[in-house]
Formats: sequence, C-alpha cells, structure tokens
Amino acid sequence: MVASFYQDNQDMQFYVDKYIDWNRLGQLIAHGPIDSDVVQTYKDILDLIGDFVANEIAPRAKQLDIDPITVENGEVKVSPAFTEIFDQLKELGVFGLVIPEELGGMGCPIMLHYLANEIIARADVSIMTHYGFHDGIALALFIYCLEEEGSSSFNLDTLKFEGFRFEKEIAELISGETWGSMDITEPNAGSDMSAISTKAVQDSDGTWKLTGQKIFITSGHGKYHIVIARTSGDAKSGDLKGLSLFLVPAYEGTGDDKKWLAQVERVEHKIGHNASPTCTITYDETPGMLVGKTGDGFKLMLILMNSARLGVGFESIGVCQAALTAAKEYAEERSTMGKPISQHEMIADYLEGMETDTAGIRALAVEAALSEELALRYKIKIKYLNDGNDDAKQARKRLLKSNKMRARKFTPLLKYLAAEKSVELSRMCIQIHGGVGYTKEFGAEKLLRDALVLPIYEGTSQIQSLMVVKDALAKYMKKPMSMFSDLFGALKSSYVSRDELTKRVGKLKLRATWAQLYIMYKIMRGKFSRGGFKGLKRTDPNKDFSFALLNAERLTQIIADSEICEILFKQASKFQEREGLLRKYLRRAEPRARYMFDLIKTS
Ligand SMILES: Cc1cc2nc3c(=O)[nH]c(=O)nc-3n(C[C@H](O)[C@H](O)[C@H](O)COP(=O)(O)OP(=O)(O)OC[C@H]3O[C@@H](n4cnc5c(N)ncnc54)[C@H](O)[C@@H]3O)c2cc1C
Repeated sequence: MVASFYQDNQDMQFYVDKYIDWNRLGQLIAHGPIDSDVVQTYKDILDLIGDFVANEIAPRAKQLDIDPITVENGEVKVSPAFTEIFDQLKELGVFGLVIPEELGGMGCPIMLHYLANEIIARADVSIMTHYGFHDGIALALFIYCLEEEGSSSFNLDTLKFEGFRFEKEIAELISGETWGSMDITEPNAGSDMSAISTKAVQDSDGTWKLTGQKIFITSGHGKYHIVIARTSGDAKSGDLKGLSLFLVPAYEGTGDDKKWLAQVERVEHKIGHNASPTCTITYDETPGMLVGKTGDGFKLMLILMNSARLGVGFESIGVCQAALTAAKEYAEERSTMGKPISQHEMIADYLEGMETDTAGIRALAVEAALSEELALRYKIKIKYLNDGNDDAKQARKRLLKSNKMRARKFTPLLKYLAAEKSVELSRMCIQIHGGVGYTKEFGAEKLLRDALVLPIYEGTSQIQSLMVVKDALAKYMKKPMSMFSDLFGALKSSYVSRDELTKRVGKLKLRATWAQLYIMYKIMRGKFSRGGFKGLKRTDPNKDFSFALLNAERLTQIIADSEICEILFKQASKFQEREGLLRKYLRRAEPRARYMFDLIKTS
C-alpha cells in the first residue's frame, strides 16, 4: 500500500488542520457551527480519497494514457480502466461532496472539492476533470437556481433549501450515473466568446431549440450540457449581450430506449489528457432549457468558468506536486560522482525551487477558493437568512463585496501561474530524470504532455493576464487616489518598518505598484503625444492600451509573486513554521520581479 496522497502532503494538511476556518464557513451554511467531529470527517474524506488515488488511480495512469477512445454510432467508448475507476468512485460515494444534503449531497464546504481535485490530478488529470464534471456541473446548477429568482426557496423552519428547478438533474449528476459538460468553444470562437454562432430559437410553444457545433468539449459524451448560444445578434456583431445560457440534455431515456438529441461527432487525438474524451458535438434543433434570462449567458457562464478556473488551478498544483515528488524520489535514488544527484548543488536548488513554487501557488489557490466560497455563502446568507440588526446586515454586505473582489483578483492570477508552473515543473522533472526522463518508463513525459494543455483551456494564459491587467489598471483609472494610497502603503512598509520580512514583502509590493504606475504613465504619455491635453480625455481603444497589453504577462507575474508573498507573510505572522517558506519564496520572487520590471521598461 502506498501512503495516501493526502497523508503524505504536509503542506495541504497545514491548511486543513490549522489554516482554514471551517467554523466560519460552517456558520455561513444554514446548519450552523462546525464542531471538531465534523472537521475530522472532512479529514477522513480527504484521506479516503488520497488513499484511493494513490492505490487505485496512480497505478493505472499508464494504462489510462495508452488506451484509445473511440466513437461508434455516437457512443463514446473510454478506457476500461476509466470505467472501473468511476464505478469504484461511485461505490465510495464521493460524488455530491459539496451539494447540500437536502439535494442528496454531503453538504461539505466547496474547499474540499478543490482539495480533492488536486489530490486526483496528481495521479491523472483525465480522471480529475471527469470527476469535476459531476460535482462541478451540479454545483453550477445549484448556484444558477439560487441566482434565478423563484427557482429555489429556503425553509426558515427547517433551515433547508427546497423547490429547486434543477433538482432532478442535480440528483442524477451526483449519483454518478451521468455527468455534465461546459460547451463554449466553436470552430471560430475560442478565446473570443463574442464570435459564438450556435443559435437558440424559441418556438411558438415556448420551447428553445439549439443549432450549431461545439468543439473540444471535455467529457462531452455525458447527458447534461451547459451551452452558451446566441439568442440575438450575430457572430460578426461581436455582441456578448446576445448570448444566453441553456441546460441541454444530450439524450433522453436509458438502455435500449436511449435517444440522442445531440450528436457526438468525433473525439480529438491529443498529445495528453488521453483518457479524457474531448468531443465535437452537433446540435440540430436540440431542445434546451433557458437558464436565467436571455442576454445573461456571458454573465452566467462566467460563474461556471470562474469555478472551473479555480479547479484548473488546483489541477495544475496536482501536476506540480506529482512532478516534485517524482523528481525528488529519483534524485535521492540516483547517484553520480559519488553522491545522490539530489545533493549536487544545481539539482538541490531545482528541487527547492519546485517545492517552493508548489507551496506558494497552493497558498494562492487556497486563498482564492476561500474568497470565492465565502462570497457565495455571504450571498446565500443575505438572500435567504438576513437576520440580525442593521449593522450585522451591513457588515455581511461589506464582507460579500470584499470576498468577491479578492476572488476576482486571485482567480486569474492562480489560473495563470499554476498552469505555467505545471509546465515548467514537469519539464524540470524530465530533466532531473536525465535519459530515462525522455522514455515512457517513468511517467515524467506524461506529466509534461498532460501539463501542456493547462495554460490553454479554461481561458489561455494570455487571456488570464489580460484580465489581471485590465482589472489592475481599471482600479487606478476609476480611483486615481488609490494609486497614491497603494504607493504610500508599500513605501511605508518597505522603508519605515524595522522588521526585515515586512520590509521585503513591502518592497515587492512597491515594485508591483511601480510597474502598474509605469504602465499607466506610458498609456497617458501615448495619449498626450497623440492629441495633447485633449488627447488625454479621448479614448482610442486600439492605441491607448497597447503598451499594457504587450506587458500583460510580465505584470501578471510580478503581481502574482507579490500577492503570494503577502499571503505567506500573513501565514508566517500567525504560524511561525511558515516563515521558512516565506523566506524561500521571497528569495526567488525578488530577482524575478526586478527582471520582469526591467523587461517592461525596455519593451
Ligand atoms: C484538451 C482540451 C479540452 C478542452 N475542453 C473544453 C471544454 O470542456 N469546453 C470548452 O468550451 N472548450 C474546451 N476547450 C477549448 C479551449 O478552451 C480553447 O482551446 C481555448 O479557450 C483557446 O481557444 P482557441 O483554441 O480557439 O485559441 P484562440 O482563441 O484562437 O487563441 C490562439 C492563441 O492566441 C492567443 N490569443 C487570442 N486572443 C488573444 C489576445 N487578445 N491577446 C493575446 N493573445 C491572444 C491565445 O492565448 C492562444 O495562445 C478545450 C481545449 C482542449 C485542448
């Protein structure tokens, strides 16, 4: 028996045992405080999953990678190992982890779902994504019901939700019998959602029917597709307001009575994620249920995408952890020039860098996921249970807003950095293995092939960095004074404070702030040079922001490092044992930030 992938991960255990305030999350779930027995149950669940992943999924990863996926008469045939694993997961009863009990789930905090994602991805990313398309889609439907007025209610006597519009679909998803998918990409619309052309038309009897093609749909051979389609305008108009969201069952009936309403045309032959069916699906007047209002499609899809981006963040950390563990084990076993390669200076430094990066990104991931979950829970509390006096209600609103903002800031940073690092670390894992790393024997090359898609799907790295930069600059454009307060705050901690770590974290923040101000200055100078003082007031989107767009990735890297150091600083202030990690992260982040700022200045 191999040790559970949870038990052998001390960094993850730090968050579960010490850092995450489960009770706070619990009090925002209707059923109140969470006692230590409940927290022990969460740990037991993670341990159970960790044990299953280490002993049942990891040993089959090689087989999952080589078994072909085929399509016959619209039915997708996956690897037998894939089917066996999901049958076992069903038996374990780990679907519906985060869905409220009244809907048939276990009612655990959403944080648990993300930690499970990391643990599973460490063994195989295809299994993780498919697992995510059970609970993740069920959770999205749950949130859509909460968002949609009149689609759910809350019983104040029993403190339970009732009357959910998608109750039946959620129950099917978390039974493990079927799964969902997220259908956005089309042949001519990937990063650019405004180019979506799949159409949804309403019949005279009120039924919506969808026609069009979606490509690259992960686990697209399941029943419940969340599809974004055009209800007005056309693809050329680039109009996001013409997009609406639909829940589309791809088939009805079961067994011999099963009838496909949408068609899986093909599955992609990829270089990685080989056990995961990536499907092309054609809709031909396929009936769908409108979610929310027409025109809300982009907004509603973002809810699902944000949580999927957090999922990819944790998935990427799983890949980083796998690369680190494999590299470390090999480097300790293999000797050259009279000592294990782990003791050669360069290799020791690579390994320390890999460990530091993985732990730093995990800190960002936990913070992002906690902010997202707290925002959702405050929203539920405000909408359904807004008890207490006016001060308490106002405080909740403020907490909703601040957590929403933090989630919005951290999510693209996480998606960007974690995905990029998973590629970097898996490549390093091959290098540390030397020649055998380049063979198929050790699995290091599989990690790299699997990692390469992480900076592509759920919004490419470039798109994530554009989001980071847009938000960072918009803040200063809307509130120019915040520029000075940020600068003053960073100056104060970097120069006035006597504490060495406060100073260093402050200096990094100062560099991130300077980099943003420098970009703002270049934007303003460009505007001025084009039209003098009048030019400052005029907006020319094609020219104004080109310097910011050019440097988006560089700025994102500086901001991500600065945010991670702030999070680690907060941890070290409370838990002394985290100081070592903060120091290691700072040592690598400081020169990186200087270099990135230099690149911005010379671009
Ligand atoms: C294995 C796999 C699974 C997938 N699963 C799903 C799924 O479940 N559901 C789904 O809907 N889609 C899925 N996708 C599709 C994926 O989300 C898209 O491939 C991705 O969004 C990029 O779109 P694209 O391929 O059209 O590339 P494009 O949008 O054409 O981009 C090509 C390149 O140009 C860059 N680029 C584009 N615009 C800009 C810009 N403004 N500035 C700078 N650079 C830019 C991109 O970053 C990228 O590097 C999957 C893809 C793969 C490979």
